[in-house]
Amino acid sequence: MKKYEKITEEIVEIAEKLLKENKVEKVIGFGIGIFTEEVTPIFISDPKDADRLVFNSKAEMSLAKYLLNYKEQKVAIVAKPCDSRAIATYLAEDLIKRENVKIIGINGCPGIEDNTACEECDIRNPVIADYTVGKKMTEEEIEAKLKDKEDKIEKMTPAERKEYFQKEFERCTRCYACREACYVCYCEQCFTEGNQPEWVGDSVKLNDNFTYHLMRAMHMAGRCVNCGACEMACPEGIDVRALAAKMCRSAEELFDYRAGIDPEQKTLLSDYDVNDTDSGFME
Ligand code: SF4
Ligand code: SF4
Ligand code: SF4
Repeated sequence: MKKYEKITEEIVEIAEKLLKENKVEKVIGFGIGIFTEEVTPIFISDPKDADRLVFNSKAEMSLAKYLLNYKEQKVAIVAKPCDSRAIATYLAEDLIKRENVKIIGINGCPGIEDNTACEECDIRNPVIADYTVGKKMTEEEIEAKLKDKEDKIEKMTPAERKEYFQKEFERCTRCYACREACYVCYCEQCFTEGNQPEWVGDSVKLNDNFTYHLMRAMHMAGRCVNCGACEMACPEGIDVRALAAKMCRSAEELFDYRAGIDPEQKTLLSDYDVNDTDSGFME
C-alpha cells in the first residue's frame, strides 16, 4: 500500500506545481468520486484541488483516451506505463500534439486489482514521460512479477478456439463497454453503427456478436497495448482481451512489432517497404 501512497504524494506535488506555474490548464488523473467511494477520472484546474488526486490499485480506467477531447489545450495527464504506450500510439498516429501534453508517468507500476493484463505486463516503466513518480523497476523485478501462465488460446486447436469463443461471445450483450474503454477504439463512427454498408446487424445473435468481435480484433492488429481495459469494463466477464492479445503476439512474432513503444515508430499497418520481396497474403 505504501507504494501507492508515495506515488500519490508525488503526483499531487507535480500537479500542483504545473497548475500554479500555469504550465497546463488542466490535470487529468484519478480521484475519489463525490457520491461514491469509487476511483474515477478527475479533471483538476485549480492548484488547490491537486490533493484530490490519488493512485491506488483500483485506478483501472484508461485516462489517455481523454487526451482526444483536449487536443488543443495544454494538459497534464497521470499515465500508468500502459497509458504511456497509448499516448505513444496517439503520437505515432498523429492524433495529439506532443507540445500540448505533460506526461506524469508512473514508474514501477504495481498493477491494478483483478486486471489479468497486469500479470502479463512486461512494460512497468513509462515509455514516454515529462515527469516520473515512483521507483523505476529493473528488468529482473519485472521478470519476477510475470506470472508463468499457460497460454490457453495458443494451445487450442482451431475447433477448440471456435468453441471457446462461441461460449464467450454468446454472453455478449453488445453494450460496447469494451470498445468505449479501449484506448485505440476512437473512431467517430464505429463500423458497428454504419448502415451503408451494414457490416454487422444490431442483434445479439451469435453470428453478429462474432462479427463485432472479429472485426474489432482486426482493427486492434498492431495497435493494442494489452492494457486489459476492455476486459475490466465488460459487465459479462467475457474474455474480450484474448483476441486482441493474440493479435499483439502475432504482430510481434511475424513483424517484430509492439505497439506504443516509441512515439516515432510507424504504425504497423501504415508501414511498407517497396523493396520487400515478401508478397505476404497477396500470394
Ligand atoms: S498493464 Fe502494466 S502498466 Fe498497465 S496497469 Fe497493469 S501493470 Fe500497470
Ligand atoms: S463489454 Fe462485454 S458485453 Fe459489452 S460488448 Fe464488450 S464483450 Fe460484449
Ligand atoms: S483491445 Fe483491450 S487490451 Fe487492447 S488496447 Fe484495447 S482495451 Fe487495451
